[in-house]
Amino acid sequence: MDGNVVVALRTRGEFITLHSCTMKFKNIFDFTKQKISLGRTFLSLIQNTNSSLKHSTYEETTIMAFSVRATSSSAHHIARNVVSKTRSSCSSSLASKRSQGMQGKKMSPSSSSIPFRFSSSGRNSAMTVQAAADGPVCVVTGASRGIGAAIATQLGAQGCRVVVNYAASSGPAEEVCKTIKASGGDAIAVQANVAKQEEVDALFKAAVDAFGEVNVLVNNAGITRDTLMMRMKLAQWQEVIDLNLTGVFLCTQAACKIMGKKKPVKGRIINITSVVGVTGNAGQANYSAAKAGVIGLTKTVAREYAGRNIQCNAIAPGFIASDMTAELGPEIEAKILTTIPAGKYGQPEDIAGMVRFLALDPAAAYITGQTIHVDGGMVM
Ligand code: NDP
Repeated sequence: MDGNVVVALRTRGEFITLHSCTMKFKNIFDFTKQKISLGRTFLSLIQNTNSSLKHSTYEETTIMAFSVRATSSSAHHIARNVVSKTRSSCSSSLASKRSQGMQGKKMSPSSSSIPFRFSSSGRNSAMTVQAAADGPVCVVTGASRGIGAAIATQLGAQGCRVVVNYAASSGPAEEVCKTIKASGGDAIAVQANVAKQEEVDALFKAAVDAFGEVNVLVNNAGITRDTLMMRMKLAQWQEVIDLNLTGVFLCTQAACKIMGKKKPVKGRIINITSVVGVTGNAGQANYSAAKAGVIGLTKTVAREYAGRNIQCNAIAPGFIASDMTAELGPEIEAKILTTIPAGKYGQPEDIAGMVRFLALDPAAAYITGQTIHVDGGMVM
């Protein structure tokens, strides 16, 4: 059976160094052969370092991960692992098909005709083989719903260990953790109001207690309290500033302290701002001021930490389908759509994809202090 696979080689010594390629294979032996040769090529580049060979699902494909030491014999070791784990997965899958009365082709485990099938969901398949996640530790604030949940899920699917922060939605946050674990990552859910210093301290302590370090911070948690400026109460102003701006400051300070401890220092901070932080928006004096503040804070953190190998960037989403935009109602939505050249709302995954790039991709290592718009062309 054919399938598209993303194969990635990652060194632990590096923050995350990925070589990836897409390939097709017909069966496990064909796949293994390709993997060995890929492994050798990459391993020769990074001899004597700890590595992780990870072939992971992208969108519709299955996730499998193996951790190995990058020694000369490791390619064979990986191959043996793949073969033996996949054989047992194949046998249990065939056994279960037979017990369900489905027709299973009889084949020996050593036969080269064992099919290696990707599950369509990419999760919880009997064919999925996983090792414990050992990827970067990522703290994502406000990750129980919407954009934050999509970010946490995508980072988890890359093998990251994710701290799923939430304010009140413990059930949805636990669901996000389950999804991450099923896709090969690891996760814990931590309740904390990130507008409060003591709760931010507890959040980062929980991250270090669980995973030992923090490599990536995504400041995503945010709220709106919209009304025209003249009607805005001080409490409405303050609540939004406290979470959407002060919360970003508190989490960034806490993360930088931890990132600075482990040598060599490496860290990535991604702040979710908004197009209205650039353009302003009637009815959002508090929100647009906070989001503009986040852009300024991003540039300052980038300048202070560029020499210490911590990159800080912001993403400015346009209108993204989430609980936040669902509040706007159909009339306002229709007006908004006329201002978006793409003619539609973005999806949380559109933002998560950019976070994934800025947080994990080696190609993003020289990008800092930038605000990247993901808005269907709204602001250009
Ligand atoms: P949602 O309202 O869907 O989700 C908000 C998230 O923030 C939830 O996980 C919520 O947790 C969490 N949260 C709320 N208050 C706190 C708090 N005090 N401490 C910690 N977490 C908290 O928002 P979106 O997904 O739409 O937005 C995410 C980010 O993207 C925000 O910063 C927003 O400003 C920004 N953005 C969104 C746009 C959009 O169109 N949706 C456009 C531009 C920017 P809980 O579930 O526990 O309440």
